[in-house]
Amino acid sequence: MARYVYDFREGRREMADLLGGKGANLAEMTRLGLPVPPGFTVTTDACRAFLATGVEPPGMAVEVSRHLSAVEAGAGRRLGQRDDPLLLSVRSGARFSMPGMMETVLDIGLNDDSVPGLAKSSGSERFAWDSYRRLLQMFGATVMGVEPSLFEGAMALLKEACGAVDDLHLEAHDLARLVETYKQLIRDETGEEFPQSPTEQLRRAILAVFRSWNGERARLYRRREHIPDDLGTAVTVQRMVYGNLGPTATSRGGGSGVAFTRDPATGRPGLYGDYLPDAQGEDVVAGIRNTVPLADLERLDPASYAQLLHHMRTLETHYQDLCDIEFTIERGRLWMLQTRVGKRTAEAAFAIAAQLTDEGIITPDEALARVDGGGLARLMFPAFDTSAAGAALAHGLPASPGAAVGAAVFDPAEAVRRAAASDKVVLVRQETTPDDLPGMIAAQAVLTSRGGRTSHAAVVARGMGKVCVCGAEELTVDTAARRLTTRGGAVVEEGTVISVDGSDGAVYPGAVPLADSAVMRFLEDGGERSVGVVDAVARALEHADSVRRLEVRANADTSEDARRARRFGAQGIGLCRTEHMFLGERRRLVEEVILAGDDHVRERALAALLPLQRADFTGILEAMDGLPVTIRLLDPPLHEFLPDRTELAVRLASTAEPAPQDVELLGAVNRLHEQNPMLGLRGVRLALVVPGLVAMQVRAIAEAVVARTRAGGTPRAEIMVPLVGAVEELRIERAEVERVLAEVSEESGVSVCCPVGTMIELPRAALTAGEIADEADFFSFGTNDLTQTTWGFSRDDVEAAFFSAYLDKGIFLDSPFETLDRDGVGRLVRIAVDEGRAARPGLKIGVCGEHGGDPESVHFFHAAGLDYVSCSPFRMPVARLEAGRAAL
Ligand code: PEP
Ligand code: MG
Repeated sequence: MARYVYDFREGRREMADLLGGKGANLAEMTRLGLPVPPGFTVTTDACRAFLATGVEPPGMAVEVSRHLSAVEAGAGRRLGQRDDPLLLSVRSGARFSMPGMMETVLDIGLNDDSVPGLAKSSGSERFAWDSYRRLLQMFGATVMGVEPSLFEGAMALLKEACGAVDDLHLEAHDLARLVETYKQLIRDETGEEFPQSPTEQLRRAILAVFRSWNGERARLYRRREHIPDDLGTAVTVQRMVYGNLGPTATSRGGGSGVAFTRDPATGRPGLYGDYLPDAQGEDVVAGIRNTVPLADLERLDPASYAQLLHHMRTLETHYQDLCDIEFTIERGRLWMLQTRVGKRTAEAAFAIAAQLTDEGIITPDEALARVDGGGLARLMFPAFDTSAAGAALAHGLPASPGAAVGAAVFDPAEAVRRAAASDKVVLVRQETTPDDLPGMIAAQAVLTSRGGRTSHAAVVARGMGKVCVCGAEELTVDTAARRLTTRGGAVVEEGTVISVDGSDGAVYPGAVPLADSAVMRFLEDGGERSVGVVDAVARALEHADSVRRLEVRANADTSEDARRARRFGAQGIGLCRTEHMFLGERRRLVEEVILAGDDHVRERALAALLPLQRADFTGILEAMDGLPVTIRLLDPPLHEFLPDRTELAVRLASTAEPAPQDVELLGAVNRLHEQNPMLGLRGVRLALVVPGLVAMQVRAIAEAVVARTRAGGTPRAEIMVPLVGAVEELRIERAEVERVLAEVSEESGVSVCCPVGTMIELPRAALTAGEIADEADFFSFGTNDLTQTTWGFSRDDVEAAFFSAYLDKGIFLDSPFETLDRDGVGRLVRIAVDEGRAARPGLKIGVCGEHGGDPESVHFFHAAGLDYVSCSPFRMPVARLEAGRAAL
């Protein structure tokens, strides 16, 4: 029979799939002997079973009750006991951290009978009533579905009636009145009483947390973070401890805080965090009051501070990584409420990996495993050129680095609306809540006037790699009037452009120009390496290069791109798209080649193109001297190269006496018009029906090779035939290519040998790869077209048309044009690799579709046995890093 509940003493860190991150780490801290309030975890299995059937899985209730009894026995009191109630927290905890996205219910166990008992045992009437109203509020909203703002409204009315500026100024009798109001609210809204039975509260709270896995914001967050929908959440049930009990005659007061063993923004070693005296843990994360720096705790409570330092060292040594910790001090006694290997910025991830390697704590392989291409890409983003910025409007906490410019908006829905219209926006709030998530996703940056580095805004933005400045107290944010006011009196209305620097916390008026990142400068032209993060990135890349099996090439069509790609570490060019060389003036010549009614016109156009192409190839071969350069023969979808049919027809119709050549042109365009140009006369098909085209291109390549050889270079051109679906197409083309190569060799006296290969970008090519390999010296997967043709998705249209609906419905987690679809397209890739190599052992195989620069896809290509990935120059460092990580 399945088991659904584990005591903290029974679990361990490795059980995060079953116990969620929170449950597994609470268990690990318990095992390490740290002071963790006792409790137990209901598993993700139970959650999945509940979500699948809508009913509690059989046996779960009995197990919960047995574990509850154990906690009660340890505490020496029962849940909700009248004279001294044991109270519980019920919190979500999935395999992957989803901060604030699911539900929490605190103070479970309290009821009308036990409030006086709690008042007595805590020595504070006010505390007891405040706890009860918190329970009613959380339970009412989360479990019973009452609109949360109704509770907030009732609280605001009471504060107004009492003349209280904040919650702390409400007296016990005020809060007792509020409890009655809340109970009535629940009755009115649900037609049901708030359940007085502590065990019923517990049961319903657990199920509500399970349900919150499928809540709207949790689903949205998962989509954004690519977390699968079918994992489910665990639920931790733990004895409540309180940081807001106040001191007694014999003990100090308390508080709650969040701490990091290193700076999660920069990776610098040291103790970082926020502390909120006389508060519960939720108050810290909610950013309701401004926190004090953790260092202040040394003055406020030196004994607890020393213990905390000790525990943090224990945790960092044990986890061998940056840990973040939530803790509460209850009347001078320190309790550890949560730990995890902490979220960090990309900069901190690279810096910490390098530091821990230097400290001998982890190996270079482990260091490489702890950084990723997504983070590297973020570090390659631009930063502000602050010399060009005006005086800052304000400074807040630099919570998540990077630079962003956008129009200030004060409402998440407005942020979403403007972003949908392609506007760049900065979401400005007093503090954020999980309900702000859609606005945060839509915004370039998030700016808050309240809350610490560990507030919701900071944690969520950092996780997303989004620029964030929080706690900019100098700003007064008026969300109703949609404006902010600076301390100096300047007003920024909604829609005004501001610039937010998440690296130093500054907020500037207007659009500050962006400058390259130091990492980018280093990667692009060997700029300064001594900056900490640059050196850390360089070391990670060097190690990746030393372990990776996949070669990394560039997709480049000009000598300038080729030179840049080389600086980024390219080991050759995997795709030179020759149609990109025919833009501007040259387009007319291609048009003539394709549309020419007679041989003479076509030959004239081809002759004009030949020297241009030869010069192109010579430049690229020179830039990539000694490295392979895969040149793909022309593959223009015709609609991209021919004049627009409708425009041409309209122009002719409005001309009294149209020129005969224009009339002829329209006739030709009409003749060649296609309903589905992407599936039409492209690639090898065009080469087979337009005489002379391939011969011209191959001659240009061969003559460039001759020129480079004569200049003392080592040109390594490879010729690639696109959109092949049948071996016969390739056989005919190959013969033509070899004929021209032999011709130029003979004319020049320089032997020109170029491997001739093919792209695999049609399902039929993948399925007949064994035959195609007979005629191909190499394969290169064109996964853009292979995805298009496998799914039957038009690559130009579908992403904008309906992918968001597909992502919403969970049909896929990522666009298949971004991350390779392993099950479908990936299967074709594997078939082609296996059958191609069976027919021609040692066949060189690469990929040159966009997936070649996508981190997840790179891991797939490594596993599928490819020899190289090829991607745009700017994505090459990411591909190198991920190819290294794939090889670990
Ligand atoms: C591909 O289809 O993946 C490819 C690289 O070719 P293109 O994008 O030029 O069609
Ligand atoms: Mg293609």
